[in-house]
Amino acid sequence: MASIKPLENNSSILIIGAGTWGTSIAYRLTKRGYTNIKVLDSNTFPSSLSAGNDLNKILEEPTSPPPRTRNTIETLASEVWRTDPVYQPHYHPTGFIYAAVGDAGWAKVKAAAEAQPDVYAPLEDAEAFRQTMPHGVLTGDLTGWRGFIRRAGAGWVEARDVLLDVYAAAAEGGATFVCDPEAGRIAELLYDEGDDEVVGAKTADGETHRADFTILTAGAGASALVDFENQLRPTAWTLAHVPLTAAEAPAYAELPVLFAVDEGFFLSPPKSAIAAGDAELKICDEHPGYIHLVSEEDGDKKEKQPVPIPRAAIPGVSAANMHKLLQATVPQLADRDVLWPRLCWDADSPDRLFLIARPPSRDSAQQQRLLVAAGGSGNGFMNSPAVGILVADLLEDRLEERMAKSLRWRPETAADRDWFDTQGRFGGSGKVVDLSEIPDGDWFEGPAR
Ligand SMILES: Cc1cc2nc3c(=O)[nH]c(=O)nc-3n(C[C@H](O)[C@H](O)[C@H](O)COP(=O)(O)OP(=O)(O)OC[C@H]3O[C@@H](n4cnc5c(N)ncnc54)[C@H](O)[C@@H]3O)c2cc1C
Repeated sequence: MASIKPLENNSSILIIGAGTWGTSIAYRLTKRGYTNIKVLDSNTFPSSLSAGNDLNKILEEPTSPPPRTRNTIETLASEVWRTDPVYQPHYHPTGFIYAAVGDAGWAKVKAAAEAQPDVYAPLEDAEAFRQTMPHGVLTGDLTGWRGFIRRAGAGWVEARDVLLDVYAAAAEGGATFVCDPEAGRIAELLYDEGDDEVVGAKTADGETHRADFTILTAGAGASALVDFENQLRPTAWTLAHVPLTAAEAPAYAELPVLFAVDEGFFLSPPKSAIAAGDAELKICDEHPGYIHLVSEEDGDKKEKQPVPIPRAAIPGVSAANMHKLLQATVPQLADRDVLWPRLCWDADSPDRLFLIARPPSRDSAQQQRLLVAAGGSGNGFMNSPAVGILVADLLEDRLEERMAKSLRWRPETAADRDWFDTQGRFGGSGKVVDLSEIPDGDWFEGPAR
């Protein structure tokens, strides 16, 4: 077994994945004074595979104080969004409309909102919904919509623009990025002679990158490099964009998030797009997710495992549901060509909590030189500043004990994992759907960028 050097400011640190979390981790480590950081990614930056390479994402600040793990993470993240000069300009606390149309979704929304009457105010009817946005935006009949509004402590953040700025700040702090399909794509991890500790990685061009510490944070691609024992399920959701004219854009610029747990949501365009004259409303339909199962040989067993398949297209049923959402809410935009549809891949953990840990090695309780940061789902962007802090704390062996326990390597949570578990999500067919069951003719390709 290779001797393990203690962590020092000039220790070599290899980060695999320059996505949402990889950039945040690189930024945090440079801020803590580490001087020898290399970040590798399989695509030019920002990667078309990154779930964070998107116009915008929802942000909800915590509504009750720690000690719960999720709240502690959200509290850490909110502090950064509110105060850090790299993140803060991208936070739009415009409010959050929490709604549902079907009875099951409504039961969940109602229970959650009514438990926090100081946070959520009811929206009594369609007119109350309309009043939450500038005149002429929510012109739809909103038939069956029921909901609440949270006016403070929630909204949306610019996503791609955050990635660009965090990357720039990390690079300015001394981190080196190699984002390239050959020179940046990790083909395999490198192990020491005892096959025990990870000592770096090998890229597709055949180069080896040895490092004192390796941090694997490759999103939905992480489980191709380490056996996560079914703790990660690459799962896709669907998004597309509706173009706005320069004259329309200001009215749609600072909207509260309109989110129906069983229908979907749309978000305002980022400032940069409005300034450039190519503003678009991002739209997502809600559903329990798409997976792509492939057969994998495991000794005598043939198992089906979920793997991501990037595609700049969405199932036709998702495009139809987006159209339905636009008709109900902003019908004036419903008949426009929907642009840049894509599958956006995340890595669902069974309990939807992050996995920030040292995985086990063959002959010791845990790897000393490999850290992984993956999993969770649906809130990994808003919490990305916290992930940077938590990974840095873990690397420095000062991650708070309760947090370390919650975010630990926990394959027991994935024993006999049902890949089709909806994990409490609503919308669409109400089921997780295997993409291989969708015939080629049932896809919406749409105009792509
Ligand atoms: C449709 C959708 C909507 C979402 N909405 C929200 C929201 O509103 N709010 C919110 O907080 N969160 C949201 N999320 C979740 C959030 O976007 C993700 O949790 C977060 O972006 C994950 O970050 P990551 O760094 O783990 O993965 P990514 O950002 O996907 O980064 C992974 C990186 O690893 C790279 N990579 C992969 N394989 C390799 C390899 N072999 N070698 C080198 N590099 C590799 C990829 O190119 C990529 O850059 C949403 C997710 C989806 C899919």
